[in-house]
Amino acid sequence: TVSPLIAGNWKMNGLTHSLSELAELARLLTTGEAPRAVVVVCPPATLLAAVAAQGASSGILAGGQDCHVAAQGPHTGDIAAAMIADAGGQFVIVGHSERRADHGETDEVVRAKAEAAIGAGLSPIICVGETEAQRDAGEAEAVVADQLARSVPDAAGSHQVEVAYEPVWAIGSGRTPSLEEIATMHKAIRDRLVDRFGVSRGEAIRILYGGSMKPHNAREILGVDNVNGGLVGGASLLANDFYTIISAV
Ligand code: 13P
Repeated sequence: TVSPLIAGNWKMNGLTHSLSELAELARLLTTGEAPRAVVVVCPPATLLAAVAAQGASSGILAGGQDCHVAAQGPHTGDIAAAMIADAGGQFVIVGHSERRADHGETDEVVRAKAEAAIGAGLSPIICVGETEAQRDAGEAEAVVADQLARSVPDAAGSHQVEVAYEPVWAIGSGRTPSLEEIATMHKAIRDRLVDRFGVSRGEAIRILYGGSMKPHNAREILGVDNVNGGLVGGASLLANDFYTIISAV
């Protein structure tokens, strides 16, 4: 089966001094037991090159939080996938619910971003997840299936991608779905991926859980079938918390 992956999404947090947390994480990872997970940190773009350089010696990989659909050009304030790769990144989050909400990103845009990422040699972490109203209406699985169908590009059948299931209502809220709800959703996602890409590819795609993953709940969530790792927000900002989550794999 696929190796687990724990990614930290720093979101719009982190200044140069935050690199001391990264140094502490590196220390923990290299002095303790070898991590059983691939470890990725996705800092703000201003710190990407520094994280890539500083993380290299301890096996911490770097990723971006977003990329533009185009390879380059007149898009002030945006970052191309090739720039993330050039800075030493190997991953990029696309379609995070905060970008879908704050920047009106549609599934079609997310898919194009994932394609751009693959084209630049990055592995996109493609985010999906229902809102609380959608879950209450019993639509969670249908919403996520639709997002998957539209946001995951065909190239996922031949290139490395990750899917992150992040229920919008669990992000930053301290609330999580039950383990049974996580198991049901991750199985539904797995079934869709296998239907579309076949057994060997469909099972090779990591399905990460994200949304209030913390030191106290990581072990049980990461133990759920078809949970191949986590996408961690707030708890990735502190080296000790993030290390505890990584160690829970
Ligand atoms: P929190 O872990 O802070 O809930 O954030 C989750 C998330 O959005 C990761 O992308």
